[in-house]
Amino acid sequence: MLEKDTQQQQQRRSELVRAARAKSATARYYLAGYCDSTRCDVRDVLVMAKNHLESIGELHCPACGRRLLSGAHSFGVRGVETAEQYDAITHQRARDDVANQLVNERLRREQGDSPLILKQASEIKSGVTLDELQAMFRDRDQSDTHA
Ligand SMILES: [Zn+2]
Repeated sequence: MLEKDTQQQQQRRSELVRAARAKSATARYYLAGYCDSTRCDVRDVLVMAKNHLESIGELHCPACGRRLLSGAHSFGVRGVETAEQYDAITHQRARDDVANQLVNERLRREQGDSPLILKQASEIKSGVTLDELQAMFRDRDQSDTHA
């Protein structure tokens, strides 16, 4: 059986979509939700929507049909994001991925050919800026020339 959004939930989502559409200069925005059914393997669902009509109602799981709850952690999308916000999220994730690869490379150099790389929690990179990334590459290149 499909659960229906309450009127309050529909209103809240409509407000978020309207705000995203109004803020976004581009012709797309993103909606995300997750399926919390224990009988379904789908976790997060990300929808890129056209900025044309106001036709999107509630989102349902593509596998089990249950109403999706708002937000999709694995995509970094809280519920509704403008195209610009979504692009910023994906760019940040890309910088963080590269920064964490550089940390892993350094740890591999320092710890040798161990199958298990020991990493401190403080060495997990998040929210890395382009300047910080550039500095990390500079450090790596300097350690390469000293090796
Ligand atoms: Zn589902």
